[in-house]
Amino acid sequence: MSTAATLCAGWTDEPPRDCGRCERLAQFRADNAKRYPDYFNAPVPSFGSADARLLIVGLAPGLHGANRTGRPFTGDYAGYLLYSTLKAQGLARGEYEARADDGFTLVDCAITNAVRCVPPENKPTPAEIKTCRDFLTKQLVQMPNLKAVLTLGQISHNSVLSALAIPKKSHPFAHGATHHAGKITLIASYHCSRYNTNTGVLTTEMFEKAVATAKKAAGI
Ligand code: URA
Repeated sequence: MSTAATLCAGWTDEPPRDCGRCERLAQFRADNAKRYPDYFNAPVPSFGSADARLLIVGLAPGLHGANRTGRPFTGDYAGYLLYSTLKAQGLARGEYEARADDGFTLVDCAITNAVRCVPPENKPTPAEIKTCRDFLTKQLVQMPNLKAVLTLGQISHNSVLSALAIPKKSHPFAHGATHHAGKITLIASYHCSRYNTNTGVLTTEMFEKAVATAKKAAGI
């Protein structure tokens, strides 16, 4: 079984490696495959099991992070804060070594991205977010035990709302805000990006609190 297949247990609707739904992203991937032939250079599959109670949704793979390693947030600056926080709160086990084959595992949580392919300058277009939402929607449906979704950043928050057909107006993004959507609780956090942490928009304490709130909402 490939590393990618072992990383995401239970999901049947992952985008294919050669997904061509977004022309610009497919072209960027092809350019990167020439420039960085050792990189993963494909839609990055979700990490964790479909049986998880908590889903964490990021924005998109970083060029030299998840797009290189093939696992969400792995090798990206944001991954250090995310994975150390998950481990500290019992939501992950093992040593995070910024490699997809480091043996690090998630406990009752899973991680995916609103957009699966690395976008130029880390900025997916609204059309790309909408197109890739198809995979997010299918994923949400395929998680029978899902109780909580932690969204990282406004794009992720809005895309999850759309995937669940929840009006954005009545559920605006705000760090720490909690929204209820049927059986699912949504917890919004600022993205744990280098920019947000370096500028103090998101402190480690703020992020830890958001993860703790999500863990509690998931009943973990
Ligand atoms: N890496 C990811 O996989 N997702 C993000 O949102 C940021 C970095």
